[in-house]
Amino acid sequence: MSQHTLETIVTATKTDQSGYWHTLKNSPFYAEGGGQPADRGWIGTHHVLDVQIKDGEVWHLLSEAFPAGTSVEARIDEGVRRDHSIQHTAQHLLTAILEDRHGIRTLSFGIGEEDSSIEIDTAEMDWAQVEALEEEVQQLIFENHPIHVYEIPETEVDRTRLRKETDRTGMIRIVEIEGLDYNACGGTHVKTTGQLGMIQVTTLKKVRGNIRLTYVAGNRALKATQRAREALRSIHHTLSTTNESVAARVIEEHTIRLEREREIKALEGRIAKAKVEAVIKEDNYVALHVGRTEAETLTTAIVEQIAATGRIAVGANYGTNKLFVMHDGTHDLPVGTFLRAALQQMQIGRGGGNHKQAQARFTSVVELERAMKEIVERLQEGVLPC
Ligand SMILES: [Zn+2]
Repeated sequence: MSQHTLETIVTATKTDQSGYWHTLKNSPFYAEGGGQPADRGWIGTHHVLDVQIKDGEVWHLLSEAFPAGTSVEARIDEGVRRDHSIQHTAQHLLTAILEDRHGIRTLSFGIGEEDSSIEIDTAEMDWAQVEALEEEVQQLIFENHPIHVYEIPETEVDRTRLRKETDRTGMIRIVEIEGLDYNACGGTHVKTTGQLGMIQVTTLKKVRGNIRLTYVAGNRALKATQRAREALRSIHHTLSTTNESVAARVIEEHTIRLEREREIKALEGRIAKAKVEAVIKEDNYVALHVGRTEAETLTTAIVEQIAATGRIAVGANYGTNKLFVMHDGTHDLPVGTFLRAALQQMQIGRGGGNHKQAQARFTSVVELERAMKEIVERLQEGVLPC
């Protein structure tokens, strides 16, 4: 039987809103602590959902209860253990290099489900420095430094070498990465730096005047690289680019799009002007514009221009099932309140607005047309003298 599986006995149980907590005579599980998440695994056939130390006891959370005294097999999930050990040992390595070679202390760290992070005591760092750091780390991974974990009495601890002072007493667990790190640590670790595979920094952020690096190591780094390649492949497929040309091409596409948007806006302005002239030829006080095939931006441009003539403008856009009501502010009619009240009475659509402009959205063209007809009628009845 491996060190990750053992036969043991349930010694106590308790229940809370999370589920059923158990203590075991012996436990192979690592409880959450020191910035490292708890192990996962199984007790009997039940998944271990969490492991916490409370009052000096290791408590295992299950979704079902075993009575105290039950003989069980406790087995940790070796894949999760390995992954947590890799992310945690990666932090040792990053902290050691940053502190010993660059004089930058680690302030805090944590391992997450997706990535891990360290906050470091420096106000500035750029991506060129991050790349240099990754290359230093990669060299130490290649050199395959052995990692030793051992317990010694507190009197034998070499305090001058300790990465961080410890307030523990009695036997102290030392984690030593040969030639790199000497640390009092209770976490789980890989056996050599080579087992880290690769450490990749994923984000660089300023927080509280410091820098926070998030990173992935081992299989997480492989997965991150594969996801990035997949995203790039999709862009290459769409834009016919290569890794070398993609950045320039995306910027070019973006510039072209902005240019097109400016052109479209100018064209919409001209179209709007022509359509508005047609609508306001009639001596109408409430003017309706129906946009069956046009973009929403064109419909709103037309409605705005009609409103600017002093009329109450109503516009419908069939593509988005939206209705717009506007005036130029000279009318004693709060269209937001008017529209919201009308829709509530009709029991369709959702919308509102302010004194001079309002809009509503409907779930179908049928609803839009019904509302448009009703709104225009109500406006004509309310606004035009009998
Ligand atoms: Zn550690």
